[in-house]
Amino acid sequence: MKQNKAIIITIGDELLLGQVVDTNSSWMAQQLDVLGIKTVRRVAVADEIRPLRDELDAAISQAGYVFLTGGLGPTKDDLTKQALAEYFDTPLVQNDEVLHYIEQIFERSGRVLTLANKRQALLPESCLVLPNKIGTASGMWFHKPECHIISLPGVPYEMKAIFINEVIPKIKARQQAFFRGHRHFLLMNVSETVIAQKIAGIETGLPSFARIAYLPGIGALRLRLSGSHSDERYLNSVLDEAAAQIKAILGTLIAATEDLSIAEVVGGILKDKGLTLGLAESCTGGLIASKITDVAGSSAYFNGGIVCYANAVKENILDVSRQTLEHNGAVSEAAVLQMAICARQRLRTDYALAVSGILGPDGGTEENPVGTVWMAIAGSSGTKAKRFHFRFERRHNKELAANTALEWLRQYILIDKASISGFTQL
Ligand code: ATP
Ligand code: MG
Repeated sequence: MKQNKAIIITIGDELLLGQVVDTNSSWMAQQLDVLGIKTVRRVAVADEIRPLRDELDAAISQAGYVFLTGGLGPTKDDLTKQALAEYFDTPLVQNDEVLHYIEQIFERSGRVLTLANKRQALLPESCLVLPNKIGTASGMWFHKPECHIISLPGVPYEMKAIFINEVIPKIKARQQAFFRGHRHFLLMNVSETVIAQKIAGIETGLPSFARIAYLPGIGALRLRLSGSHSDERYLNSVLDEAAAQIKAILGTLIAATEDLSIAEVVGGILKDKGLTLGLAESCTGGLIASKITDVAGSSAYFNGGIVCYANAVKENILDVSRQTLEHNGAVSEAAVLQMAICARQRLRTDYALAVSGILGPDGGTEENPVGTVWMAIAGSSGTKAKRFHFRFERRHNKELAANTALEWLRQYILIDKASISGFTQL
């Protein structure tokens, strides 16, 4: 089905030379995926007319949507625009509205309007102009039999604004006859291949209008079950049934059945239960606190955290005994337990989570190799410590440790029944 396929062509020598990383096409492909349009090819071409024409020929014959980004700035001789006007055999004409808008921008900022800037109001006659409300390069929408060709600026935030404000509504209007549906699942610390094996039967059993996308992150795996159909009730019944099967198979591995981060999930649980959290972070250096406070309204359940990086802080602020630090070390069960217990008291919270580890690249010992992280949780019904091992480089390990800590906390709270009256699910 050509109509639901897209090809993205990015334009610019800087992209080919690797001086600028192409973030536009991955962002666009993600947006298109949500709209039910599958990106089948992404290609970068030089700032030259010939290669662009060749790619356009190929793309238009294979996809229902062809997206172009780049080459619309004032200093590049309007290469893309010129190429498109020639390609669609249409003259460049002055668009008064766009010219007026560009003049206004320059007037307001007190800059002198150059000829190059004025030329940005010259646009191919046959295209639908997509207004750029935050820049001077307009987007352009062309139409060929069975294919839409959409050209957008290369500046990422301008491209995104036009895509969100102009392109998405137009694509949605064209797809009106189809209803889209999604079901989300968040899984933490699981292997993508193991999950894929577990739900392989469900995946193969899905009708052709529905599918499961795997969206892996650091320590997190999102599953998105989606489909599109002209009968909304039928679509929802198919998605609901598949979602119920996924839930039955993956059970408590599922941290959320909405499109949420693990910090949002933990925050939601704490808020619902009226519980509070405090942190004692060594190796994660405040990253867990940062993730928790990324969530609006986190002050309802997050009292605060202590970044106890140096041993002196662990000893003086968190009452980790000198003996523990000398005999067991800062990365030990005894140390994280004392950190969690003291943080819970000092920060006056229902729960306190403590983390101490060696993230690398140096500092490993035989007993505690690089990647070893001890975590402890202190709650009303007692304390628990657990040792984890992460095998990546420093930044990756840090992110993984923070996400793992939040997931462990989620599991701990949900099974720590003593402090949660009326909670039955395990
Ligand atoms: P000028 O040189 O006049 O600013 P241009 O014609 O090169 O204009 P664009 O090609 O639209 O303008 O690119 C503008 C900026 O956007 C570039 O400096 C580039 O860094 C960035 N850019 C272009 N394409 C992409 C892309 N695919 N992903 C991320 N950034 C991009
Ligand atoms: Mg360019």
